Amino acid sequence: MTEQREPIRHHIAAASHVGRVRDINQDRFLTTGELLAVADGMGGHVGGERASAAAIGELSGHRGLLDVDRLVAAAEAANTAVFTEAADPSLRGMGTTLVAAVVDDEAAEVRIVNVGDSRAYRYRRGELVQVTIDHSLVEDLVRTGRLTAEEAKEHPQRNIVTRVLGMGEHVDVDVFVLSAEPGDRFLLASDGLTNELSEAEIVTILDTVHGVDEVVDRLVASAVEAGGRDNVTVCLADIFDVDGNRPEPAAAVAGARKETTGEATAEIAPVAAPTAAEAPAGDGGAAGLFQTSRGPSMPDVVDLDAEPSLDQPPAPLKVDESTTLAPTRRTVPIAIAAVAIVTLLAVALGSRWYARSAWFATDDAGTVVIANGRPGGVLWWDPEVVVTTELVTADLDDASQEQLASEREWTSLEAAERFVENLSTASAAAADAGAGAAGAAGASSDDDGG
Ligand code: MN
Repeated sequence: MTEQREPIRHHIAAASHVGRVRDINQDRFLTTGELLAVADGMGGHVGGERASAAAIGELSGHRGLLDVDRLVAAAEAANTAVFTEAADPSLRGMGTTLVAAVVDDEAAEVRIVNVGDSRAYRYRRGELVQVTIDHSLVEDLVRTGRLTAEEAKEHPQRNIVTRVLGMGEHVDVDVFVLSAEPGDRFLLASDGLTNELSEAEIVTILDTVHGVDEVVDRLVASAVEAGGRDNVTVCLADIFDVDGNRPEPAAAVAGARKETTGEATAEIAPVAAPTAAEAPAGDGGAAGLFQTSRGPSMPDVVDLDAEPSLDQPPAPLKVDESTTLAPTRRTVPIAIAAVAIVTLLAVALGSRWYARSAWFATDDAGTVVIANGRPGGVLWWDPEVVVTTELVTADLDDASQEQLASEREWTSLEAAERFVENLSTASAAAADAGAGAAGAAGASSDDDGG
């Protein structure tokens, strides 16, 4: 331990709103004694709701003061819960973000796990810092310099997430550990908040509104007023000293606040990555922020206080808190291991090309449709219905229905259309043949029988 921190106390509050456009609220949140979490579900009409509920439901079973390992295990269990439910064909493709935080009073520490594009922020002395890194397409593009942060905000594909719970048996979970001191506010939010309010608007509320319940209400109400185009969900943990006191927010130190748009030039270098077990609570000292992407393939935690070591392999990030906790839009910007990012982008673009280079006919709610994409989707690229035919699946004969169910892939839309035509013709012929013998069945195909 480099520095003994004073114990803290905390208060948690949460608020959620369906917004002004959506019919249902697919966000879910959790606030227990030490644990707070936000999940933003996606996929289908009911899928999103089910996914976020499954994740939060699972997480709520993991109580107590979770250390990093147990918090990650809880997130992984939440992934399993969602993935298991997604096996139901009607829920195929559903998933959910999850950002969760544990406030450890005695260690004066907040441990955060994240998957997806919901966010965690730390607000301290007038400065708001985004702790988590969005797992989203635009974030990847910004990181590789293909998009500016400004462009990203209005990008039509800014809702595409590159990692969520429920997509696979395993999931990589990012981990962050931060120091907490009286006056700090830890904010978790779904993108319904951050897409509607600028960072400056959020800061203004954190600066001026005192009570934890009032803050969450005000944040949600402001996002709804600003458009409410998505569900809005916010959890907040306010940090106090052991006597329940905290410095007045904001105004007192407002003069010291710097521009919130400044680009941080964080020094990031590869660093030896100790396991989570080797990164005890106090080790982070006052700096105390480490981040990692964990999963079966890369069980690393990055300790920010570790000495940089340029020739160590797994190469996540070393972040100097003096720069990363500067007031900037992203906590850990830009310079990640370049090779990893290029690879990631290649995979992303490659998978998109692969996902979009096929067409297949399938049944959609009783009607034959043609979709562009791969049956079941590829990563986050779900197939998209491009042609809805007038063919009713139930009108097809058994053989044609079987062929349809095989979801054979075609390399062009025309080929898929020909396939559907053939199904229709074959089916009509079969119906005609059957009508003579068995009577009944294909009454609608009688017109050209003879
Ligand atoms: Mn959302």
